[in-house]
Amino acid sequence: MPPWCTPAAAEDREQRHHAGPRDLTDEGRLPALAESTQELFRRSSRKDHAGTGDLQRRFEQAFGAPADQIVRSPGRVNMIGEHTDYNDGWALPAALDIGTDIAVRRRTHGLLRVRALRLDTNDERPLTDLRPGDGPEWTRYVRGCAALLRDTGHHLDGADLMIDSDLPLGAGLSSSASLELGILVALLATTGSDVKPTELARLGQRVENEIVGVDSGIMDQLAVASGVAGHLLLIDCRTLAVDPVPLPADVRILILDSAVPRSLAGSAYNRRRAECESALRVIQTAEPTVHALRDVTENLLALHQSRLTAVEFRRARHVIVENRRVLDGVVALRRGAVDEFGRLMNLSHISLRDDYQVSGPELDLLVGIATRAPGVLGARLTGAGFGGCAVALVTADHADDAAMAITAQYRRATGRPGSASICVPSNGAHVRSTVL
Ligand code: ADP
Ligand code: MG
Repeated sequence: MPPWCTPAAAEDREQRHHAGPRDLTDEGRLPALAESTQELFRRSSRKDHAGTGDLQRRFEQAFGAPADQIVRSPGRVNMIGEHTDYNDGWALPAALDIGTDIAVRRRTHGLLRVRALRLDTNDERPLTDLRPGDGPEWTRYVRGCAALLRDTGHHLDGADLMIDSDLPLGAGLSSSASLELGILVALLATTGSDVKPTELARLGQRVENEIVGVDSGIMDQLAVASGVAGHLLLIDCRTLAVDPVPLPADVRILILDSAVPRSLAGSAYNRRRAECESALRVIQTAEPTVHALRDVTENLLALHQSRLTAVEFRRARHVIVENRRVLDGVVALRRGAVDEFGRLMNLSHISLRDDYQVSGPELDLLVGIATRAPGVLGARLTGAGFGGCAVALVTADHADDAAMAITAQYRRATGRPGSASICVPSNGAHVRSTVL
């Protein structure tokens, strides 16, 4: 074990300041039902997080010298527009104020040395022999970013990195895109070069597709790279244009973790994609100008309904109407009708449950509890489905009470350690402080 790995490990374990209910289930234990507000939900404001001072201290302990820079990379949640990205449609995610912090120090030792606090583990590779596909899963994201930067002409001399985060891993808030974009920005900070958010997002997506082996779109990386504080991001998945849409300051995004693992998500996701493609092919035989389900109107779908199987029809209907809900939702937000936006979120959930069939009993229950809670304007499952998180929009003055009531009721009903985070939209991945 290299000497830089040893000093902080025991202390890291003691100081897992964001070990929430999610972390406990990851270790296979079911926590007792929460006694205190603290255990039921967390606010994501920076003062609740240990902050960069703590990360700097631990970086220095581990690597023997202070970090040069601290990078903040957000998680993301999709507010509406689910399963539309691979149909060339629209999505409306937000970059979140929970995410990944990365401390970085430029070195000339020719190595990539990384400590991952959440996993209490380390990695070290020579930059000339990164082997991005070889190591444990988390190292593939990190080595993969370095490898692609080198492949695309960026010269790296060496770097020490420490990764921390206050984001649940594997819960659908795109901790992977948050990690990728954070590492890319941190490594680029050691070279002094500037790369546009869309280009960074493409690199992040290549890491997922080519190195980790996940066949995902670019929406997550684009949201994490292009976030704007106080705004949702209208993403046109055909052109990759990003258009910030203001979210009123008196509402909060409530992220509700069902604590149901997304075990079926991979295979079901591939099946849904195939069903969309077969629906598209049928329509295309009669309508050659149609390139994707995005180009199909509700009238056109009705015209071809008899040639589609019942399943193809429902999948296509979800995608087509969901696209309309996204665009209607943006119009509603731009004229300040946030309650109308909430209603569209509710309809999105029903469509995902009945037409796209990617919900499940726990997510339906959680969304049902949320929509009945005081101050909640709308709620739906978010992400691919089959477990993971739901998202709700709630008035700021009701956010704490709603988070507590929903989580407590969900826990009582399911025995699962559900938890909630109260968030606001934040900026995309950026250097947040330069240590002088
Ligand atoms: P999601 O992106 O929905 O959170 P994924 O399965 O795509 O779920 O990505 C989760 C994986 O990303 C983790 O299992 C881990 O390999 C990696 N990861 C994300 N955040 C971190 C972190 N802070 N430290 C180490 N690895 C991380
Ligand atoms: Mg991911």
